[in-house]
Amino acid sequence: MTSTRGRTTSRASASRTLVIRLAPLPSVLIANRGEIAVRIATTARALGMRTIAVYSDADSQAPHVQAADEAWHIGPSSPRESYLVAERILDVAKRSGAASIHPGYGFLSENAAFAEACANAGIVFVGPPASAIRAMGLKDAAKALMQAAQVPVVPGYHGERQETDFLRTKAYEIGYPVLIKAVAGGGGKGMRRVDRQIDFDAALESAQREAANAFGDPRVLVEKYVSSPRHVEIQVFGDSHGNVVSLFERDCSLQRRHQKVIEEAPAPGMSAEMRRAMGEAACAAAKAVGYVGAGTVEFIADGSDGLRANGFYFMEMNTRLQVEHPVTEAITGLDLVALQFHVAAGHPLPFSQSDLKINGHAVEARLYAEEPERGFLPSTGKLHAVKFASTTTFRVAPDGVRIDSGVRTGGEVSPYYDPMIAKIIAHGRTRDEALDRLSQELEASLVAGPKTNARFLIRLANLPEFRSGTFDTGTIERHIETLAPAHAPAAPAVVAAGAAHVFAVPSSPADESPWNDRSGFQLGGARSVPVSLRVDEETIQVRMMHSASGVTFEIAGETVVPHPGARLVPANDGVIVLEDQRQVQVSRPNPRDILDAAVAGDGAIRAPMHGKVTLIAVEAGGRVTKGDKLAIVEAMKMEHALLASADGVVAEVLAAAGDQVSQGAVLLRVEADA
Ligand code: ADP
Ligand code: ADP
Ligand code: MG
Repeated sequence: MTSTRGRTTSRASASRTLVIRLAPLPSVLIANRGEIAVRIATTARALGMRTIAVYSDADSQAPHVQAADEAWHIGPSSPRESYLVAERILDVAKRSGAASIHPGYGFLSENAAFAEACANAGIVFVGPPASAIRAMGLKDAAKALMQAAQVPVVPGYHGERQETDFLRTKAYEIGYPVLIKAVAGGGGKGMRRVDRQIDFDAALESAQREAANAFGDPRVLVEKYVSSPRHVEIQVFGDSHGNVVSLFERDCSLQRRHQKVIEEAPAPGMSAEMRRAMGEAACAAAKAVGYVGAGTVEFIADGSDGLRANGFYFMEMNTRLQVEHPVTEAITGLDLVALQFHVAAGHPLPFSQSDLKINGHAVEARLYAEEPERGFLPSTGKLHAVKFASTTTFRVAPDGVRIDSGVRTGGEVSPYYDPMIAKIIAHGRTRDEALDRLSQELEASLVAGPKTNARFLIRLANLPEFRSGTFDTGTIERHIETLAPAHAPAAPAVVAAGAAHVFAVPSSPADESPWNDRSGFQLGGARSVPVSLRVDEETIQVRMMHSASGVTFEIAGETVVPHPGARLVPANDGVIVLEDQRQVQVSRPNPRDILDAAVAGDGAIRAPMHGKVTLIAVEAGGRVTKGDKLAIVEAMKMEHALLASADGVVAEVLAAAGDQVSQGAVLLRVEADA
């Protein structure tokens, strides 16, 4: 904050426009995938830069490939064989003539050797100098460095000694609860909270084991577990002329297993005094390591008594662009990626601290392919639909919403990469306005295929403890029963909506496609037929009724009208029905499932439902082999082949083609070979 001091606001805003218009570097290779790769490409192209994507086998059709001017294949789907292979990415950079490499977040973004290799190859690494990455790479060394720079750190032991007895003694001196942390840690791994001395040894051992596995380094530090912890981080920006500014804070206290879920800016309850103190501490931290570019200094604040200017401690510095950077963009009006290119090209920051102002409030939610109702199990597979009400990507639209996504309908959530589907960002004049917008946008979002955490996020955005601003990093865990209750059985009206679609029933009597004609099934006076339905993992029997007012179903003894508001996405030979962000798959049962039910121990082959026999494929006395087609029964549009479940001889044929049969009627008997 030296050479830019004293600039006027008007000059600052003029140069801010300049940042957007200049092509600071001629080209960039984006060494990443998914939403962040698309986001970087969007800004780079707007700046007039040539954009170069890289992709693995799994990503050949991915949106980030299409978002760039050219794309290079770098290997198999596993990140270890593609996005993490520094030599291969550098090789593509050289062959494509890339002037710079943007690493995004994750992957190679905090790899000092990679940053160095870029510099050695004469390619600009869009990030801090390798020395700054290295200085902040290990949590113990970073804490020591910060202490020397007068930045408050969490009290604890971050020295070299690692013996169990010694660390246990240190934990006792620090005072329980304590937190054991992997010095090489990231992503919440290798971290254990210990509340009582008696549990210390076991927790230490498991933290060390996890750290050795995840980071190849078993070393840990022990620090005080801050009570009512609030995660408040400062976005900093440095240039190569020695200037560092704070772009204010983000509150990321809504966490699950030390991983961020919803982030916002500014932090609720933050005073101007504390903001200044934290901003200064963060800038001091960045300056202590000669920081250039976008970085985040993460602090833990003791929120037991509200946020206090003397109650925050340095945790770590992330030397890269952060997943949650859009909330900072929303409240400052800046494009952080454009700024990254600007300072990477050697230009000074186009503004000083006093030019920066907070405008309104912004929140971001991470929409993941996971199932909170089943312990947050990851959910992969084809995306049959991905649709948002707001279509503005990578910048906040006038309606206050921004969607950052790197997937699309027809794509896939694969097991190889982070299962994030999108980041939904909402901006408003007030916190409530921003949270209302976030909640509405989540309600309107449509993702079919992999299960998502949308319902969980909506509940979280409206949780009173969060809305009132009195939350901390334990809030989600404390309310997990309310936020992620186990699935109740699918609502009958939702099942009926799916069934109506599956059997192609006209939605209204006015519809010119009488179901009788379509199905070839004689309804007679009853206009009611039993049908089998597959609902998620279960096969159920329901009755379908047609009347002047439309179709209804009898499910578990109740007459049910199809849910009028349910959203339907054809998928997997059936339909995915979405209601209240819950997905229910409804389809016709697989004939095999029915057969299993139809074949009784006596060798009787029974009609799986009321219907018409359209074929008897065997004769009495004939031999059949397992899997042979025995008969076909048709009901509505379903045709069910009945197959032999074992080798044997047809003992008896009791039905003929054209017969109307009722469910359970014996059609033939097969005597299986002994
Ligand atoms: P943030 O604070 O920005 O959320 P995280 O450390 O949680 O940062 O992770 C940022 C991104 O980097 C996430 O997409 C995460 O999956 C990825 N990531 C985190 N740690 C690793 C790692 N060790 N290797 C590869 N990717 C990682
Ligand atoms: P990582 O590299 O995995 O992101 P951090 O040191 O940033 O590790 O910690 C991750 C999360 O763990 C923080 O966001 C915070 O919620 C929690 N945490 C870390 N240190 C403490 C502490 N001393 N007291 C309480 N919570 C902490
Ligand atoms: Mg962290």
